[in-house]
Amino acid sequence: MRVVVGGGTGFVGRALTQLLRSRGHQVTHVSRRGGKDRISWEELSRSGLPPCDAVVNLAGENVLNPFRRWGDAFCREVTSSRVETTKTLAKAIAAAEQPPRAWVLVTGVGYYRPSPTAEYTEDSPGGDFDFFSRLVSSWEAAALIPGSPTRGVVVRSGVVLGRDGGAISQMLLPFRLGLGGPMGSGLQPFPWIHIQDLSGILCHALETESVQGILNGVAPSSPGTSNGSFAQELAAALGRPALLPVPAWAVRAVFGAERAVMLLEGQRVLPKRTLESGYHFIFPELPAALKDIVA
Ligand code: NDP
Repeated sequence: MRVVVGGGTGFVGRALTQLLRSRGHQVTHVSRRGGKDRISWEELSRSGLPPCDAVVNLAGENVLNPFRRWGDAFCREVTSSRVETTKTLAKAIAAAEQPPRAWVLVTGVGYYRPSPTAEYTEDSPGGDFDFFSRLVSSWEAAALIPGSPTRGVVVRSGVVLGRDGGAISQMLLPFRLGLGGPMGSGLQPFPWIHIQDLSGILCHALETESVQGILNGVAPSSPGTSNGSFAQELAAALGRPALLPVPAWAVRAVFGAERAVMLLEGQRVLPKRTLESGYHFIFPELPAALKDIVA
């Protein structure tokens, strides 16, 4: 299969590309930078989609970049890097003479309202209560191609755990130094997925003709993980203590109040449709997932 991946140069994209190539598929990235097996967004808009069987979008400005102040300009960049790239790909798919068979987008579980108790499946409502939930709604709406023969899949991902990037790469140093701990109360749910499973779900969605619609990209045991239990498990995997809680005010000071919500609150999310679609998780439980990452 020939797969075009927007934002394929990033953390998730690198893992997905490796998995797809190992399964004999050809991958072309859409990127802001030139390089081998890459096309630019301008080229895509100008010349249309290269001949391909499937399209994925993973492009997006890093929301938790602590070096970027949370403000209007950054919010606009966070939104447009997701919504505009998705629109560009959807438009190219709609205009393709030979439309691809599958179109897969990764968004986030920020669609569901944070709650310490509510449990959400793919059928639960959401998408209309704060900046991140509305972002997911417009991002997913941008992917819609009315009347298209192309099969559409959206994977709403939790925090992606992997060795070479994402949230864990920022946590490893303090935790290795024994300075890690829960954020805020530590009671908030921590929806997570191992990067091999997110790539695995994307590959499953690309290869399985019956998969369509929303899939939650979280580990099956993720609803039972709180921020505090995650900190304990990460410290245990590293053989270090996790004694120092990071107070909520410090998280707000670094990330800004609106963005701190992502860390100080969380959702219990179940991968109901993902499991029903026949996907088998490699890392359903947190201790094995973390052991694999920090080993
Ligand atoms: P990365 O931060 O690694 O970024 C992915 C790619 O997006 C980059 O390699 C870059 O490609 C492109 N990109 C970055 N900024 C911009 C911009 N301003 N305009 C256009 N393109 C840009 O993301 P991840 O791989 O971690 O995540 C992939 C997708 O999954 C993202 O949309 C993210 O929101 C979503 N997601 C990720 C989660 C996580 O925990 N990592 C959790 C939930 C959802 P290039 O430089 O080649 O142009």
